[in-house]
Amino acid sequence: GEPVIVAEKCIGCLKCVKVCPAEALEMAFTPEELALLAELDRAGTPAAEEEDPEAAALAKLQAAYRGVWVFIEQEEGEVAKVSWELLGKGRELADKLGVELAAVVIGHRVEQLCSEAFRYGATRAYLLDAPVYAAYRTQSYLEAMCHLIEQYKPEVILMGATGMGRDLAGAVATRVATGLTADCTGLDIDDKRNLMQTRPAFGGNIMATIMCDKYRPQMATVRPHVMQMPQPLDKAAGEIVRVGFTVAEEQIPVKVLEVLRDGDGTQKIDIGGAEFIVSGGRGMMGPENFALLKELAAELGAVVGASRSAVDAGWMPHDRQVGQTGKTVRPKIYVACGISGAIQHLVGMQDADLIIAINRDKDAPIFEVAHYGIVGDLFQVVPELTRQIRELKRLGK
Ligand code: FAD
Repeated sequence: GEPVIVAEKCIGCLKCVKVCPAEALEMAFTPEELALLAELDRAGTPAAEEEDPEAAALAKLQAAYRGVWVFIEQEEGEVAKVSWELLGKGRELADKLGVELAAVVIGHRVEQLCSEAFRYGATRAYLLDAPVYAAYRTQSYLEAMCHLIEQYKPEVILMGATGMGRDLAGAVATRVATGLTADCTGLDIDDKRNLMQTRPAFGGNIMATIMCDKYRPQMATVRPHVMQMPQPLDKAAGEIVRVGFTVAEEQIPVKVLEVLRDGDGTQKIDIGGAEFIVSGGRGMMGPENFALLKELAAELGAVVGASRSAVDAGWMPHDRQVGQTGKTVRPKIYVACGISGAIQHLVGMQDADLIIAINRDKDAPIFEVAHYGIVGDLFQVVPELTRQIRELKRLGK
């Protein structure tokens, strides 16, 4: 029937105006009500906000924290490459903020890593060097990081989204009661000096930019190969801040008795670091057909990757999966064969320098990111490519 507005129940929320499909409703205000609305509008202007004690406290908190830090992850003195990648991004952020970029080096006999960090862009290094930090343990590193944060108050801390980084970042953020955004794919600074932390959300269907504007430090982890590796300088100098803080060994319940290396003798293929990748998806139709990709890869000096569908089907091992729940890759060339190009796959490979897609569906989303696309049956295209490359090689080209 006809909609009826019950005058004594109406609170003037305007919901009915917004939902009316015929746009037939309009709210009429009396002159007194209009004056009241104008008054409310004025009360909400920035001038009123400035006097807000909460905003003032926040501004003070933010001003007390300065500098961008990168945690330098190392095992027996060998640094995880992601730490250098993060120094590259950290340099950009520190320049935008007009602050120092510092490396945090924790370990035993690791002082040389400070100068390496300077070559990758840091201008300061906080060094905690003691036997208690020889092998990574959550508790000792947690205490060390928290001590540094309390003393030197950085505004941004970046760590690799590796086993160690994920463990440490979570523990530190919890202890210092601040926010942490895991697996960021983009980092930037907004006009209020806040870190804009972008990462896929809702299964990769949207990219969310997450802010931690009320707490400091702002913490983020980034997966290996997501940020570009900076070109190291030949020589660079910086200031080493030696911090004497240690944790008493008796206070740490975890003891490292021995470090056992993965000793099965087979060299694990790190698809994350590969320069050339040939990947197959559900379009490969079966595990035996990956032989076609292996042949092509062998000619090109490439490694074989896969989409999640191919991995879930058991055609390829999980360590070859490219994408949101697999590896992020940044090869010079990525060849996608029989892969549709779902967003969760694209986030793992779209930063490849050159993308070549082979798919029989001309509307497959993979063609939107591909630099070269071949619309056709991969069972014809792939062997033909291999044949032609062999032919070129035979001719010495
Ligand atoms: P399909 O989408 O089935 O595409 C197969 C393609 O092959 C089609 O485009 C078809 O046209 C083509 N094709 C078939 N036959 C031939 C032929 N003879 N010649 C040429 N082309 C042919 N996916 C990942 O890859 N990595 C991830 O890390 C990942 N993480 C995920 C995380 C979450 C939370 C979710 C929800 C999903 C995730 N996925 C991931 C899955 C993703 O959404 C897709 O389902 C998946 O990538 C599809 O794989 P595909 O392209 O191989 O298969």
